[in-house]
Amino acid sequence: MILLRDPEDPKIFWVKRAKTLAFMANYHAFPGGQRDAADAEVPIINAENVHDAVMRVTAVRELFEETGALIASGVDGLSAERRAAMRDELHSGRASFKELLEREGLALDASLLIEAPRWVTPETSPRRYNTRFFAAWLPEGQETEVIPGELETGEWLRPKEALRKWVDGDCVIVTPIFSAILALADGVDGFAERLLSVSQEERDHLERRVQFRYGIFLCPMRTPTLPPATHTNCYLVGGDEMVVIDPGSPYPDQQAVLDHVVARFIEQGRRFREIIITHLHPDHIGGVTHLAEKFNLPVAAHRLTAEAISGEVRVDRFIEDGEVIELHEAAGELTWRLRAMWTPGHARGHLSFYEERTGSLLTGDCVVGFGTVVIAPPEGDMNDYLASLRRYLELPRLTALMPGHGPVIADARGRIEEYVAHRRDREDQIVSAMRAGASVIPQIVNAVYVGVPEAMRQLAELSVLAHLEKLEGEGRVTRAADEFRLI
Ligand SMILES: [Zn+2]
Repeated sequence: MILLRDPEDPKIFWVKRAKTLAFMANYHAFPGGQRDAADAEVPIINAENVHDAVMRVTAVRELFEETGALIASGVDGLSAERRAAMRDELHSGRASFKELLEREGLALDASLLIEAPRWVTPETSPRRYNTRFFAAWLPEGQETEVIPGELETGEWLRPKEALRKWVDGDCVIVTPIFSAILALADGVDGFAERLLSVSQEERDHLERRVQFRYGIFLCPMRTPTLPPATHTNCYLVGGDEMVVIDPGSPYPDQQAVLDHVVARFIEQGRRFREIIITHLHPDHIGGVTHLAEKFNLPVAAHRLTAEAISGEVRVDRFIEDGEVIELHEAAGELTWRLRAMWTPGHARGHLSFYEERTGSLLTGDCVVGFGTVVIAPPEGDMNDYLASLRRYLELPRLTALMPGHGPVIADARGRIEEYVAHRRDREDQIVSAMRAGASVIPQIVNAVYVGVPEAMRQLAELSVLAHLEKLEGEGRVTRAADEFRLI
């Protein structure tokens, strides 16, 4: 629900989703939620058909539950206290939405809601929703109030201010929110019609390269990667000058999609400087040669990565720790400053990129959008890995993690701390298993990874080895052949 107020100086209402949510945690969004079975029983006038009626009831109910704003005819006569009491009854389940409306003599009216586009979450989203968007004006005399829980905060602001926050890196939003704000920034009059008139082809294009951050585009590409991931995130960063990071797919249909995205940027007058590789794994380099040849682009990577993949992918330039890649936008004053960080641990030559202006961190496979990362010796090193995570935490401003797999992480610091805690817990479990008598890796795996599927067993063994090597390096474990002992 795109809630608007003050027609003479229009403002929109957006909310910040809670950290604890499994989906889109800490993202900025509009209020809303899922259809409830009981929504079909609530009468609403002026709806086009049954389905339209139910969706509009859902929108009104969710808006009321989440913000206290109530869009209904007859609501003007209701005091703020009365509305608050109704909301409380609804939350606690003491009364249904239908009962409350009837009791207070209110009627829902579909014509109070402005139709905006429908969006379906992309195929790669961890959860998928088919979402109707509506807009409505906040009724005279009402105020919004977000009760902390699923939502952290709510805020009224001018559409241009929302846009500014997005450009500065102060929020993570998804395509439907971004397009609505962009259209609203051009004026509230007719914004919904303008959005509805955007062609399906253009909408598909917007979804192929999702712009979570201004100038940071994400193209998920299907790759032969490790479950639960099915895709590798390829990023395109910059303004008039851009770089492509990890075009990882070896599959021609996926490469064709990326070719199309790149070609379209070039048509708009943008120029591509180079392709950058975060690390050597096949699901990050599978499409590099194709893209380099197609658009005649040089390739850059860490020296250790270049050495490891020589003969497979030609690397033209080495990137060192601390190098800053500046990408400008000629029309505006904006610059993207990608600071390279050498972050070994998952792979020896692993690079991450910290965009200094917006505090966005492109983490490659150091932190991913779901699950944890495989640290498998000899390429992987647990000590290096933890040091890399600690370096992340020392960055001055961290607003989002843009991982090599899975969704963008808006609770950046929280996720890194979780990763560190996870490794510490795992290490504690290994030490306990060894205290209880386990001394060879298969025994430790049996104790620590209870019920690990056979297919994942080898990875679990390598993970345990990574921890044991770390403990050995710290002088806490000794090793004789296959046996490990605590000191
Ligand atoms: Zn990897």
